[in-house]
Amino acid sequence: MNIETVVRKVYPNLTPYVCQMADYPVEELKKILQKENVYKLSFNENPFGPSSKAIQAMEQAIRASNLYPSSRGEELQEVIASKEGVQREQVLLSNGADDMINLAAQTFLEPEDEVIMPTVTFVQYEAAAHLMGAVPVKVPMSGQLDTDLEGILQSVTEKTKMICLCNPNNPTGAIISDEQMGAFLKRVPKNIIVIIDEAYYEYANDPEFSTAVKYISDYENILIVRTFSKIYSLASARIGYGIGSVVLTEAIHHVRPPFNVNGIAQAGALASLNDLEHVQASKQLNEEGKQLLYGAFEQLGFEYIRSNGNFVYVDTNMNGEHLFQELAQKGIIVRVLKGYGLPTSLRVSIGKEEETKAFIDALHEVL
Ligand SMILES: *Cc1c(COP(=O)(O)O)cnc(C)c1O
Repeated sequence: MNIETVVRKVYPNLTPYVCQMADYPVEELKKILQKENVYKLSFNENPFGPSSKAIQAMEQAIRASNLYPSSRGEELQEVIASKEGVQREQVLLSNGADDMINLAAQTFLEPEDEVIMPTVTFVQYEAAAHLMGAVPVKVPMSGQLDTDLEGILQSVTEKTKMICLCNPNNPTGAIISDEQMGAFLKRVPKNIIVIIDEAYYEYANDPEFSTAVKYISDYENILIVRTFSKIYSLASARIGYGIGSVVLTEAIHHVRPPFNVNGIAQAGALASLNDLEHVQASKQLNEEGKQLLYGAFEQLGFEYIRSNGNFVYVDTNMNGEHLFQELAQKGIIVRVLKGYGLPTSLRVSIGKEEETKAFIDALHEVL
């Protein structure tokens, strides 16, 4: 057997992340498209930038780069714990939310275990299952791309080890209501770990949404996943966290590399949590951009889903890939959803006002 065969045998179901144009860095895109201005509305980044307090704190922290960071990040754990009303030990830091998802998979999944998830959701759950040789079980959406909780419960077997939910859901922006979540958790067998990814919870404005943190005291099998990449605008710093029972968080500490969260990110995150104005301003900017997009889509007769995130899902009724290419030629990069079996849909991140307007103008020109 040669080395290539060996390599392919290890990860037959995994592909590298950067596999389409929407994933390229902006500087790269400028070269490819030969444009001075490229607006990248495919990553759900916060166009507002990090809090100035976070930037200051990170500049300070750079000076201590010679020292290893705190392994568990006690100071940040403490602040998150008191904000969420949980014990410090229930908070676990990670190198972004992606790292948290992978750590949970590495800790809890064994080959052949089944991991249930909706068909239209964040791709990392499926990748994490494959990484461990577990089997992703995908449950079709119900209604207007809603997470089918009933279908998920029906899919539980003796092999089910984990269920992954995203709330608000990426790429639809839809929510699982608090009422639905409460009823669902009651029915899930207690030996199944439920990952609830709340990467966008700060943006959620549907009155029926609630974070699932309040369920942790009753359910030891829940792990909530959060990130500083989205509303806190620290995507490049790489920091996220999990909240769950001590049984789960302590188990994950066995697997976690000792210094998986760098000190600069810890400092930035800590300062970010103290800057409520920044969060408020980001939310406001997002709300305004969302309304601009809704208006444009309504005018064009496109169906869209009212979003609880910093992006909008839209069905253009046209070939999404073609639309993507034409928008790209105008320097606007959006997310095509044909990989989900949604060939006419796009996900558009909410950028600065000028970016959102440029997208809308480009869309009109293309049509
Ligand atoms: C962006 C995103 C993440 C990844 O966040 P990082 O902290 O940057 O790794 C996780 N889950 C969902 C649903 C996301 O959209």
